[in-house]
Amino acid sequence: MIPYGRQTIERDDIKAVIEVLQSDWLTTGPKVTEFEKAVCGYVGARHGVAVSSGTAALHCAMFALGIGPGDEVIVPAMTFVATANSVVYQGGTPVFADVEPDTLLIDPVEVAKRITAKTKAIIAVDYAGQPCRYEQLRVISDKYHLKLVADGCHALGGEYKGGKVGSLADMTVFSFHPVKHITTGEGGMITTDDGDLADRMRIFRNHGIISDPRKRMEQGSWFYEMTDIGFNYRITDIQCGLGISQLKKLPAWIKRRQELAAKYDAAFMGLSGVKPLVTRSDVLHAFHLYVVRFDRSNDRNKAFNELRARGISSNVHYIPVYEHPFYVNKFGKRSGLCPVTEQAYEGILSLPMFPTMPDTVVDQVVGTILGIC
Ligand SMILES: *Cc1c(COP(=O)(O)O)cnc(C)c1O
Repeated sequence: MIPYGRQTIERDDIKAVIEVLQSDWLTTGPKVTEFEKAVCGYVGARHGVAVSSGTAALHCAMFALGIGPGDEVIVPAMTFVATANSVVYQGGTPVFADVEPDTLLIDPVEVAKRITAKTKAIIAVDYAGQPCRYEQLRVISDKYHLKLVADGCHALGGEYKGGKVGSLADMTVFSFHPVKHITTGEGGMITTDDGDLADRMRIFRNHGIISDPRKRMEQGSWFYEMTDIGFNYRITDIQCGLGISQLKKLPAWIKRRQELAAKYDAAFMGLSGVKPLVTRSDVLHAFHLYVVRFDRSNDRNKAFNELRARGISSNVHYIPVYEHPFYVNKFGKRSGLCPVTEQAYEGILSLPMFPTMPDTVVDQVVGTILGIC
């Protein structure tokens, strides 16, 4: 089966992991700091906090902002459940905003409509790898004194008006799951220019304990205090060794993803019944996903099945978050809440997209879809 996305692990990646295994530190060691610095350097942010997953990174961000019961955080309905779950972890209420029909990115106009006296933050999701409209989102967040968080799990390497994802919001969250741009197996990071937020997240990832074990060892001190209830959201040096090695290849991988996207775009041009999502001219799209939209739900389902029959996986990203049973049980059935998201969900399909994918897969995929539409 050809997957819709997969990791690339090369000999130097394996070597990097083995080197860490032979070193003194398997966790809370120097590779964690080195990986944080490398990602910060790449995206242009002052601080990086590496954690055990993208989900943990989102949770850290919500904790650092002090989100709690009674607080509302605006999130797009078209996202992975973890975006909204991070608000629920803190006892807050995720408020779902609709997306733009052509890009499926959170619509700033819809965000503004959802703001109440309880709103504390916005989480913008750079869906498929295309950065959101950060200029408009910044105007709204400044006007209402909200924090702007980017869920950049799809968009490491993406750019908006010349600025890199990771430097566009108050905090940006990344995931290093194997389907994402670079991998550490499981892993995540938050980048921010705000040193106080970074400090709070460092404490939160380590049980709520102030001072880290390496510093204590260096200073010959046993004393530590827990000031908050945190979690063990630490990432290992083994994982960070892999991450450092992977990051070096990111620019070439993004280029390849864009090449594949251009090939898909050309093949779908002029077809009726199916269209790729729109890439705006002021962004550099990182293409975590290549998403097409079918006019008819039936055609989407047929395409999914016929691709599968030819050994090609595709996927649907995403079911509107508030339609999941947990959200229905907790907040009630709310069909019609985000009509653009609901309609998009009926027709979208994510086609195979990963750097080592040969051009011939594009031809196979397009050929299959041509037979349907
Ligand atoms: C992958 C992903 C996450 C969660 O990341 P994990 O590392 O799998 O926990 C969160 N948000 C979005 C949009 C994602 O794609």
